[in-house]
Amino acid sequence: MKYLVLIAVLAVVYLLWRAQRRRQDASESGGGTRPTARPKADDGSPQDMVQCPVCALHLPRNEAVADPQGRLYCSPEHRASADRR
Ligand SMILES: [Zn+2]
Repeated sequence: MKYLVLIAVLAVVYLLWRAQRRRQDASESGGGTRPTARPKADDGSPQDMVQCPVCALHLPRNEAVADPQGRLYCSPEHRASADRR
């Protein structure tokens, strides 16, 4: 019966020690729950995306409309409205 108490005490001490160690690990790693080293925007999408300077829409390059200066727009309407400026 004495051994049961001893085991219980050891178990409590062990659990407290483990909890404290885990807290120390968390604080030592800079409290970093947020993911580090996130990959950049090019997440393996094969298509080349361009942005329309008029409406800031992103669209594949092969669907964009180019003006004589080589700028790319989402539609002929936006190309024309940029020309008018
Ligand atoms: Zn546009």
